[in-house]
Amino acid sequence: MPAAERAVRSGHPWLFASSIREINRRSVQGDLTQGDLTGAEGKAGDAAVIFDRKNRFLAAGLWDPDGPIRIRILTVGKPAPIGVDLFRERIARALELRAPLLGDAATTGVRILYGEGDGLPGVVADRYGDHLVLKIYSSAWVPRLAELTEALESELAPRSVLLLTARKVDQAPGILAGDFPSDRTLPFVESGLRYEAHPLEGHKTGFYLDQRDNRARLAALTGARVLNVFSYTGGFSLAAARGGAREVTSLDVSEAALAQARRHFDLNSHLPPVAASRHRTLQGDAFEAMEGLAREGQHFDTVVVDPPSFAKEARQAAGALDQYGRLTRLALRLLAPGGLLLQASCSSRVAAEDLFLRIHREARALGRPLEEVERTGHPLDHPVRIPENAYLKALLARAP
Ligand code: SAH
Repeated sequence: MPAAERAVRSGHPWLFASSIREINRRSVQGDLTQGDLTGAEGKAGDAAVIFDRKNRFLAAGLWDPDGPIRIRILTVGKPAPIGVDLFRERIARALELRAPLLGDAATTGVRILYGEGDGLPGVVADRYGDHLVLKIYSSAWVPRLAELTEALESELAPRSVLLLTARKVDQAPGILAGDFPSDRTLPFVESGLRYEAHPLEGHKTGFYLDQRDNRARLAALTGARVLNVFSYTGGFSLAAARGGAREVTSLDVSEAALAQARRHFDLNSHLPPVAASRHRTLQGDAFEAMEGLAREGQHFDTVVVDPPSFAKEARQAAGALDQYGRLTRLALRLLAPGGLLLQASCSSRVAAEDLFLRIHREARALGRPLEEVERTGHPLDHPVRIPENAYLKALLARAP
């Protein structure tokens, strides 16, 4: 059995152009034309049926003429029509998986669909309060947006559905259904803390929902003086303040992100521990700013380091590890004895084991071997079904 066929049979949801031997195109009228890869290309979003070498049904999915992934697979083994019913079934299953999160009124920011992990490759949907933000990563989903929206509305009854698209998708963002707030702000809560997502201006769909569990861990373990490097809109900073940190510094290169971090502290000033903690923002390059703080002789009891992805491609993995190593060294210079380091990576090209080994190696070389508290991965609402989707890992450790 060819490797690609084996992968599809066992549930891998991508078929690469290079694995396709022959394409037959059947129009809706039923006439059959035959051709090669260039002659019989379908349109983005067409239903594509995959047959094995013996011409038996193997799988079906959505055709994508752009990029290396030619078909995003939606059904394997037995044929099922691609449309609203199939999407509804996937969404219902995704909701079941997330039941523990969805039942918690103190957390209303939840990733409802995580692409391949939820059987809808190339689709992400995040819920902020009663609003949904849908993000598609392939043009194959463009002609399917009406069906997808219908399925989301029937399963979730959102107040609005906003569409965002990955850069390579030729489709502008827009409102697919309902009333998206005119101030372009979606308020929500996480562990009782108030936040705002700005899907049209922000990163991802407006917030890093993927760090929810790590924020909760930080809240439980935080020391008094906290440095949050690559803070974005201050998710970890708020969690630390809520956990009792007296002084929190949010460091980021983006002034807009820091302004929103300050706004998040204001939004939560009704909570005594947040009101009692002193928050300051520091704008600049993380590497330079950390050097600067170290030169000033500053120390923190907790340092959080959650940088952007350093490796978009496999060949960048080694360089990325060097950057992580540099960040570990800088963080340790700033970390007081007994302090807590939370270092994360969202580069899917960097293996978790390599990251953890590198962090330990740097710490040992500085004479401060780390004592692990926990290694963490993906939260419940970012389920990983294929290794390509496993990007998030973090180490929580204490330095002597
Ligand atoms: N920890 C955040 C998410 C971090 S996203 C959270 O939990 O919400 C990465 C952040 O790094 C972005 O806010 C981006 O503005 C910032 N960033 C990117 N390069 C940077 C640099 N060289 N120095 C400082 N911040 C940087």
